[in-house]
Amino acid sequence: MPPGGTQESRADSRAYRGRLAPSPTGGMHLGVARTSLIAWLCARAASGRLVLRIEDIDTPRVVPGSAEQIMDELRFLGLDWDEGPDLGGPFAPYVQSQRGEHYATAIETLRTRGLVYPCTCSRKEIALIGSAPHGELGPRYPGTCRNGPSHPGRPEALRFRMSETPACFVDRVHGPQPARVGDDFVLRRADGVYAYQLAVVVDDIAMKISEVVRGDDLLTSTPRQLELYRGLSAPPPAFAHVPLALGADGRRLSKRFGSRSVSELRAAGASAERIVSYLAHSLDLVLEGQLCSARDLAAEFDVTRLPRSPVPLDDAAIPS
Ligand code: GLU
Repeated sequence: MPPGGTQESRADSRAYRGRLAPSPTGGMHLGVARTSLIAWLCARAASGRLVLRIEDIDTPRVVPGSAEQIMDELRFLGLDWDEGPDLGGPFAPYVQSQRGEHYATAIETLRTRGLVYPCTCSRKEIALIGSAPHGELGPRYPGTCRNGPSHPGRPEALRFRMSETPACFVDRVHGPQPARVGDDFVLRRADGVYAYQLAVVVDDIAMKISEVVRGDDLLTSTPRQLELYRGLSAPPPAFAHVPLALGADGRRLSKRFGSRSVSELRAAGASAERIVSYLAHSLDLVLEGQLCSARDLAAEFDVTRLPRSPVPLDDAAIPS
C-alpha cells in the first residue's frame, strides 16, 4: 500500500462521480437549487467529480437561454462542476439534444435482446382503456401491442418490455424500496423524441455516474431505470432521492406557481450565503440565521441523515 493514505480512500475519491442534471425550462427555483446543493455536497464530501448535464430533450418545455441562466445561478451559489457543456471532457457532449446517436445505439442493443417492441396505441386510447388506475407515472399501459402493433400503418413508438421479476433497491435517503412490476414504458415516442427514462440511463452509464442524487418525485421512475440497466448489462449507480420542496401554500414548489428563481432573488439583493444558509437550515444542516457557504457544509455532509418528508421553502424568508 502506498504511504500517506489508505488505498481504500484513494479508490473512493477516484470512484465517486455525481451529476447535476437540470432541465432548462426556466431559472432555478429554490427546490431545484436545494437538490443541486445536495448533489454537489455528496460529490464534494466524497472528494469525487461532478458532471453537469443539460437535459433538454423535452423540447416544447425548453426555454431558450435558461441553460446558461442555470449555469450562472449554480456558479453564483458556489456549486461548481468538473465536467460539462462549458468544460468538455471525455464524455462530451453533455447536452441531451446532441446525444441522439447514443440513445439510438442503446435502443439497438435492447432490440437485439428482444426488449423493444413497436407500439401504435395513441395516448387517448391508453387513457381510455378499461378502468385501469392511473398511477403516479400516468395511465397504465396494458401491453396491447406486445405481440404486434394493434394499428399497423400508424407511426410507431418504441416500448421497453418489462420483466416479471422487477429489481428492488435501497435508496440512500428513503431506505429499502419494494419491487414493483411496472408496465412497458416508452423509449422513443412516435414523433422520434427519446424518452427521459432512456436518455437519463444511457447518459448515467456513459458518464460513469456512481450515485444519482435527485428529487424524490423521481423515486417511482427508478424501478424502470433499473430494468434498463439490466437490459444494457450495466451495473446501476446508488440512488439518493431527496425530499421535495413545498411552496408556502403547501403545494409542490414549481416555476409554474410563481416561486422566484435564484437570479430573481439575487437581483433583489439576496447574497449567495443567505440563500445557501436558508436551504441548509431547511435540511437541518445549520441553525436558523447561521450563515454558511456551500463549501463550509461539505466536510460534515451525510446524505443518509437528511429529512425524508417534504420541506416547505418560502423565498420571501430570505433577507435581501
Ligand atoms: N432533468 C430532471 C429534472 O430537472 C432530473 C432527472 C434526473 O435527475 O434523473 O427534474
